[in-house]
Parts: sequence; C-alpha cells; structure tokens
Amino acid sequence: MKHPTPVSRETLRLTHRPCSVLGAGRLTATLWRTDEPDAVYDFNVVRTDATTGEVTQRFQPDDISDFIRLTQLLAAEVARDQTLDPRSRDNLACLADALEEVMPSGFKFDGIRCPTEGPAFRSLTVLLAVLWDESGLDFMNRPSNQHVYRVLVSLDGWLRGAGPVAGAVPDDLDPLDIREVFGVCPICGRHDSYRNLHREQWFVCHEHQTRWFAGENILSTWRSESPEDWQQNITDIGHYRIVYPLRNPSVAEVND
Ligand SMILES: [Zn+2]
Repeated sequence: MKHPTPVSRETLRLTHRPCSVLGAGRLTATLWRTDEPDAVYDFNVVRTDATTGEVTQRFQPDDISDFIRLTQLLAAEVARDQTLDPRSRDNLACLADALEEVMPSGFKFDGIRCPTEGPAFRSLTVLLAVLWDESGLDFMNRPSNQHVYRVLVSLDGWLRGAGPVAGAVPDDLDPLDIREVFGVCPICGRHDSYRNLHREQWFVCHEHQTRWFAGENILSTWRSESPEDWQQNITDIGHYRIVYPLRNPSVAEVND
C-alpha cells in the first residue's frame, strides 16, 4: 500500500484548515482559502442525514432550495474578502443580493456593497444620467472647486466601486493651478499620462478609473504601436468612466 507523503502539522494548519463552514438545511459547505500568491477559494458540499448522521454527496429535489441558500452564503462569505479584486467581490455580492430577492431570508450582508441592485442605486443612476452632460459641459467652461460635476464624478465612482478611494470627497483644487493642456481628472486634479486607442489619445487617471478624450492624432506615438497594443489599452482603460476633465480655461485657450 502506498502511503501519502508525510506533511508537517504546520503545513497542514496553514494550507488545509477550512476558513469557513457554512450550512443551509441538510447541506454543509466547507470553504478553504489559500494564498498562491492571490487568494484562491475551494469548497465542497455534502448532505448530512439528520437522523443517522450519514454524509453523502447524493442529493434530492428537496435539497435544491437549500442549494440556493448555500450558494447565497458562499457568495456573501467570499465577497467579504477585501483582498479579492473589486469586480469579483461586486459580482458575488450582487449574486447574494439577487438570491435574497428570489428567496427572502432577512439575511443582512454587512459591509457588502451591491451597486447594481436596489431602488437607491437606480435612482442615483438616473440622476447621474440626467445631470452628467449639462453639468460636465458647464464644468469645462466654468470650472470651479465647488462645482457639482466633481461631486457627480465622485458619486459615479462610488457606485461603480472604482478605485480604493471611490466616493471620497474630491481634493480642493484651484482650476487656475492646472497647467496640463489636456486637463486632469476632475476628482484628484492629476493624470497618469495617456493611452492610444488606435488614432485616438485618451488621458487617464488609474486611481479613479476615469479617462477623457484629448483628440485624434494629436500625439504621434500611436503610429509606432500595433493593433495588439490598442487591444491591450482597451482592456486596461476601456471600462474607465469617460469624464469631462478639469481644465484651466486660460491654459486651454493659449494652446487651442
Ligand atoms: Zn483621479
């Protein structure tokens, strides 16, 4: 008989101890989390007979509703992990929230934000859509520190879960201090240079996941790039919110 490779207690403790055990009805899920180098989750599901204590992985139709509840619990549990990328967390949180609408349990997902569900989210989305362009154009023409458009961009970032300080109060900015011809991020007053999307140049702020159009063929670096480069740029910044940048009107006039 072949014996398994001996594993030290320390290794076992660090790599195999479950991080969570979740239950719904007769179903139990054990959840493991490992770091390699990013967090990876594994889980199993078993059905326990309440009378005999026997465990099986064979299920019956009555178990399906418990499966839904268990799925909800698993999604909520993993979504709490702040080291996961925000998009995965939001997807899982939304799944948990959507299942709550299907099968209400009164379960509260403390600390989990679900930005694509709920009447408040929908109301704010409509509000943003109505005010966005008019406010943004006014911001371009008459920029000011207290302009409502800066609040809208910040609110939009919060709803999207964009960036580590999404939803933060915008920094104090004096438009007359802005020297960048193509403008800066309306939230923080900075930029991380630009990317080419074929012939188009887009300035970006990675922290707030914003981008704004500078022009077409106004900077020539795109000529030395390939379609693969542009595809990578779309992957990197395509989902960033297109904003009206903060520009210093006097700087813009001189260079236009
Ligand atoms: Zn920014």
